[in-house]
Amino acid sequence: MRGLLLIIFIAAATLARADVGMWIPMFLNRNIDEMHKQGLRLSAEEIYSVNNASLKDAVVIFGGGCTGEVVSEEGLLLTNYHCGYDAIQKLSSVTHNYLANGYWAMSREEELPCDGLSVSFLESIEDVTERVLADISSADSDDKRAETIKKRCREIESAAMAEDKMISASVESFYAGNQYLLYRYKVYSDIRLVGAPPSSIGKFGGDTDNWVWPRHTGDFSIFRIYADKENNPAPRSSANVPYRPKKHLKISTKGIKEGDFTMVIGYPGSTKLYSPSVFIEQIQNAIYPRLIEMRGAKLDVMNRHQAKSEKVDIQYAYKNSLTSNAWKKWQGEIKGLKKTDAIAQLRQREMELCKRNEDAKGILKEYESIYDRDCVEWFIIDNYYRELIRQGGIELCQLARKFNFKSDSKEKFSESDMKDIEQFYRNFDKDLSQEMAIEVLKVYCRNTRKDFWPEKLAKGKTTIEKLIGQIYSKSLLADEAAVLKLISKKNISQVGKALRNDPAIRLQKELHRITLFRNVATYCPNIDNLEKVHDVDRRYLSALIAAYPDSLLPSDANFTMRVAYGHVAGYDADDAVSYEAFTTLDGIIEKNSTGNPDYEMPEKLKDLYKAKDYGQYADADGKIHTAFVATNHTTGGNSGSPVLNADGELIGLNFDRAWNGVMSDMYFNSSICRNITVDIRYLLFIVDKFAGAKYLVDEMLQEQKDN
Ligand code: ASP
Repeated sequence: MRGLLLIIFIAAATLARADVGMWIPMFLNRNIDEMHKQGLRLSAEEIYSVNNASLKDAVVIFGGGCTGEVVSEEGLLLTNYHCGYDAIQKLSSVTHNYLANGYWAMSREEELPCDGLSVSFLESIEDVTERVLADISSADSDDKRAETIKKRCREIESAAMAEDKMISASVESFYAGNQYLLYRYKVYSDIRLVGAPPSSIGKFGGDTDNWVWPRHTGDFSIFRIYADKENNPAPRSSANVPYRPKKHLKISTKGIKEGDFTMVIGYPGSTKLYSPSVFIEQIQNAIYPRLIEMRGAKLDVMNRHQAKSEKVDIQYAYKNSLTSNAWKKWQGEIKGLKKTDAIAQLRQREMELCKRNEDAKGILKEYESIYDRDCVEWFIIDNYYRELIRQGGIELCQLARKFNFKSDSKEKFSESDMKDIEQFYRNFDKDLSQEMAIEVLKVYCRNTRKDFWPEKLAKGKTTIEKLIGQIYSKSLLADEAAVLKLISKKNISQVGKALRNDPAIRLQKELHRITLFRNVATYCPNIDNLEKVHDVDRRYLSALIAAYPDSLLPSDANFTMRVAYGHVAGYDADDAVSYEAFTTLDGIIEKNSTGNPDYEMPEKLKDLYKAKDYGQYADADGKIHTAFVATNHTTGGNSGSPVLNADGELIGLNFDRAWNGVMSDMYFNSSICRNITVDIRYLLFIVDKFAGAKYLVDEMLQEQKDN
């Protein structure tokens, strides 16, 4: 079977088209003919090579979950504004409000070190499948198999890091555990902020435009990587010097037009492209609708209270946007799945597979039992626990997790715990919180069986209103001053004892106990063990690989470097609704005139627009192009990824997807799935004309000048 893994190809049109997918750069020679047909003018080696400088050397993991790219000989780095946001926020204060006003270093000395931020360069990828899977017996239990594999992956990583002390290593699973690749990275941690526009440019459109096309967000920020004198990673030091990359991206200011080839290199986080149709059906019809209902209830309460008080509005602004982000995406996903008839398409794929592979029928039957209606209740309950507690549906129970411990430590709460708790209260409004707790518990009880309810409710001894009312009036956690006094005076053990019978902590514990996987499994014997689900996935993928030996099969995203390609294209979203492929500064002015606060814009940008002071950054049509859409297959994690033209030149930064096509994580359909990119010329225009930091544009366009 392992021989199969070396070349993983798939044929049927319904299963995979070569341009659909996020491809592993090491194996790009399999796609390259197709890429050339579509317009690419580079070789696979120019994109990924271990021996020579290639495009992969200019693309980094930025922070914990984004992508960035190096654009100058001196380590200048671009990423999205929303990726740099955390770092920019940490550097901001009331006197230096870089979020509101932006920040532009006018010299190297003014670049601001970012604590805790790092970027990782991919050094190499190596296929270690044989080493990971050697002698694994099919007779081994799912648990044992998983444990052995995990141990071997850690051993391979340790050996790689022992061999080269400069690198960090990780072994990642592909095709649901049918292939394992070792990734070696060099991690740089002296990263400095060079420039960021004000939020009114970097977040222009806010929640209103999130997941939306047409888009006008200047979603970029600029950093610089520093290294020691040998160009190696080093802790922050004034002796460090700008990093000299093996390769940096050349910028194209020529612009794009409909139909042009585009390519995205980056770090997509996670997709589920091979989920069986029964699961996608449950997501579309049961799981997402329940989650949308839950988040809708939260948003309803937040919106009402935020509209009444400015203080509450500020306190809940971030929570509200976090809540609405997935709420909006889930709705887009359902819409896209329905519009493209994805479930029927996936069923068709499964029928074709069954014709080719005898094992497939049995595996699909296993899936049917895993994702039957009862078992899906588990997925809902598991997600609901997260919504109620971790995502702060019942905020006092969310806070309770900090105090729900058994410890005889004589130490006091750590400074960072204290800070977290203070932060909790800073953004806590008791009335809003209590009402939200009631509403989310109502949704929970409406959608789960009684045996998953808190006991008193299930037995009819109380009502949701009374239960929550009692918690909010009796729990010490509802009283900020009392909590802060307790934790500043007492040690951890004493705090634990004092709060042992606190009603918020009791409810949190009870909900945790009753929603535990162990309990749910009694209703769903087919998934009594999660490893079993993973094993079915592995066998399903293995059957697919065996059934289609001659065609390309994209691997699900797993936050490793990938290359996606497609072309610039507008799309037909709905009946009689069509979108063009690019937006312009004119649209910013139009949106601004609606009065929606998400569309506030800096006066200076208005002046530049009025004066048509566009310099070299205008398109041939005389306008500043702000963003464009293309058919590249991307997902979360691809934010900040370089979007490149047929010559591998940077034409923009990927930052989002269009709402109608966000189901691309499960089912990609190039008729409506679009990635959204900020046009590099808008970025250069803002840096030069708006910020007056022309020296940065000169640095980025150095190569153009030299040629
Ligand atoms: N906005 C996403 C990100 O932050 C990109 C996407 O989901 O398309 O990575």
